[in-house]
Amino acid sequence: MVQKNLIDGEWIAGSEAFRNINPSNTNDVVGEYARASAEDARAAIAAAKAAFPAWSRSGILERHAILRKTADEILARKDELGKLLSREEGKTLAEGIGETVRAGQIFDFFAGECLRLAGEVLPSARPNIGVEITREPVGVVGIITPWNFPIAIPAWKIAPALCYGNTVVFKPAELVPGSSWAIVDILHRAGLPKGVLNLVMGKGSVVGQAMLDSPDIHAITFTGSTGTGKRVALASVEHNRKYQLEMGGKNPFVVLDDADLAVAVEAAVNSAFFSTGQRCTASSRLIVTEGIHDRFVAAMGERMKGLVIDDALKAGTQIGPVVDESQLNQDTDYIAIGRQEGAKLAFGGELLKRDTPGFYLQPALFTEATNAMRISREEIFGPVASVIRVKDYDEALTVANDTPFGLSSGIATTSLKHATHFKRNAEAGMVMVNLPTAGVDFHVPFGGRKGSSHGSREQGRYAAEFYTTVKTAYTLA
Ligand code: ADP
Repeated sequence: MVQKNLIDGEWIAGSEAFRNINPSNTNDVVGEYARASAEDARAAIAAAKAAFPAWSRSGILERHAILRKTADEILARKDELGKLLSREEGKTLAEGIGETVRAGQIFDFFAGECLRLAGEVLPSARPNIGVEITREPVGVVGIITPWNFPIAIPAWKIAPALCYGNTVVFKPAELVPGSSWAIVDILHRAGLPKGVLNLVMGKGSVVGQAMLDSPDIHAITFTGSTGTGKRVALASVEHNRKYQLEMGGKNPFVVLDDADLAVAVEAAVNSAFFSTGQRCTASSRLIVTEGIHDRFVAAMGERMKGLVIDDALKAGTQIGPVVDESQLNQDTDYIAIGRQEGAKLAFGGELLKRDTPGFYLQPALFTEATNAMRISREEIFGPVASVIRVKDYDEALTVANDTPFGLSSGIATTSLKHATHFKRNAEAGMVMVNLPTAGVDFHVPFGGRKGSSHGSREQGRYAAEFYTTVKTAYTLA
């Protein structure tokens, strides 16, 4: 059965379909999904536009009930939805279920936020005049998501968009339509009026582009590559629309001589290799001071030897496959580039064979890397990390900040002085002390600076900045 697109409250098959393939076993077809056309995208935008006046004025209890119901169903079905996610994306079952729980928590959080919409009442600078500051929805929000968090990223964009009274046209990544279809189905059955949330699965160059080109989309929130992010930005300037971009990272993880070695290694392995290194918050630059360098590299090698890389759904798997062949080729190309550049491949990097045909790669660790090498400057988006040796904390901080990106930044140290200094001086949107660079909470702001992000933060109460527009009203008493 082909899973359809949702346009104006109707499930629409369209003329084409595409297959969702399991990267742990390419013989396993997860499902077939309708491929939307540019015409479908335009119909979805028109439906969202028509639904906006009523939804923007809907009662907070109606919105609360729908988001709450959605949260409850996602959480009740966490094992099934987590399995679907791991099957289509390739992260381990524990990671898939964890991400699904997070999606449920996000809907729960924004269900609560519906009940806490607030403004300000102030006296005017002039006598006998009152001033009210309120937040209103922006209008039709376009949501474009990547493949690496198939349920959490759609959740953290859809939930606030609906909470604050916007209508939505949602285009998930083609590689992972299953989780997106599932949450749209849940929201639809939870009672969303027709046209409030529209799903258009399909190609970025067709469906995504139709969204970018539409004057009727008032805001676009995008997570994906730097190249596509730039297209979103340019098209949004053209239409004078609000936009928010989350793009790449080249996140540093600093290890100082005084670090607790076990804490440093655990955080580095998690940062660099869990979720197969396919997180924009993953750390691919391990910046290590001289005194601990050799011990750290030896301990990393030992730890990496014990990692279980296998089918994402198998019990005991710690690292699943790479998402598809093209990403696998990108990873192995960068491993070849690192060697050509003179870095030493200290561990891993080989393709692995398992019981089923899939995109299995042994996580790779380079040593003797410099921060000028391409493997240290460009985002690889796979289980590939390099160790950069530095003299001391000052050099570590300089190297950590010497990157076009600025999403997350981590440090392993037992020094309060260095931890405090690093928190203040790391040029990143998120800083982690003795913790992996990836792995963030659902109720606090997420986002970066420099080449990683543009616009206001996602998640938590800060999401209101993007999904609302402020009105200032004056009344003569
Ligand atoms: P990734 O490397 O993670 O696939 P992309 O930026 O290519 O990064 O994809 C992120 C999202 O952007 C996907 O949903 C993709 O379909 C969409 N996309 C790709 N090209 C375009 C485009 N020209 N216009 C709008 N969206 C696009």
